[in-house]
Amino acid sequence: MKKIGVLTSGGDAPGMNAAVRAVVRKAIYHNLEVYGIYGGYSGLISGNIKKLELGSVGDIIHRGGTILYSARCLEFKTKEGQQKGIEQLKAHGIDGLVVIGGDGSYRGAKALTEQGFPCVGVPGTIDNDIPGTELTIGFDTALNTAIDAIDKIRDTATSHERTFVIEVMGRDAGDIALWSGLAGGAETILIPEENYDMNEIVARLNKGSERGKKHSIIVVAEGVISGVELGKELKAATNADVRVSVLGHIQRGGTPTAADRVLASRLGAHAVELLINKKGGRAVGIENNHLVDYDIIEALAQKHKVDYSLLKLSKELSI
Ligand code: ADP
Repeated sequence: MKKIGVLTSGGDAPGMNAAVRAVVRKAIYHNLEVYGIYGGYSGLISGNIKKLELGSVGDIIHRGGTILYSARCLEFKTKEGQQKGIEQLKAHGIDGLVVIGGDGSYRGAKALTEQGFPCVGVPGTIDNDIPGTELTIGFDTALNTAIDAIDKIRDTATSHERTFVIEVMGRDAGDIALWSGLAGGAETILIPEENYDMNEIVARLNKGSERGKKHSIIVVAEGVISGVELGKELKAATNADVRVSVLGHIQRGGTPTAADRVLASRLGAHAVELLINKKGGRAVGIENNHLVDYDIIEALAQKHKVDYSLLKLSKELSI
């Protein structure tokens, strides 16, 4: 292994830059050359590839987004698109590739590996829904952004004795809702992994107001029902003064937390180590604070599991 490539793909996540930096610095430390592929798999197909030096990744560890840009690329889902990508990699003399992204990006890395080009997947997504790791890069930052907003909303909810519905990101995965709801003391948390019962939500609201609660906070993952729709249904079912706040894309941006920067540095460096040891086709992760790696194909066959004990705990604590 003499030359490696690195790209970021799919939805961006805070901490991706710290991962890119780790890949570049770790590779150069071991006397490898590193090439940045700009614009995810789109840039791979079109050959938007530039050599990166130590200084190319200076002053980015604390920045959100990704200096390599990201994209969604339909063509890369085809064999022809993947072959074009492999040709570009070969033309630049690149022997291995680090892919930082979510499960869609992993599928691309898996396809390249199956066609003989070694790739290592690094989990970068705010959703925390990648199998083979307990945490993904960006999750902690998104969570803290959500908590910051929930705390502010809680202040105004108390002043006006209102019920707030707060919609957070998570089309298929409920971790942002679950963790931010638990950390924010929400009365109710709705996640895509569990069916919800409107009667139960209303009963909890009524019970709270009977014991003199000044406000209620309901955190809902976008994949369950839109916050606006849920707000309408609640208004119709109760006498509460219901307001809705949709947090949206602010959850994707911002300065990565220390935890995300450390995670990104460890995972990015581990990916390079695997390539140096000729171990392509792996997905790196963290378990019990230890670095792990799995066969990327096997990792993709698993499903990230939501921690139902947290949901149970949140219900117990918000009676
Ligand atoms: P994420 O990586 O955040 O899950 P996407 O699901 O949009 O984001 O995937 C990012 C990109 O990965 C896609 O635009 C596509 O180029 C590539 N990709 C997704 N699925 C596959 C697949 N089955 N085979 C090859 N490439 C894929």
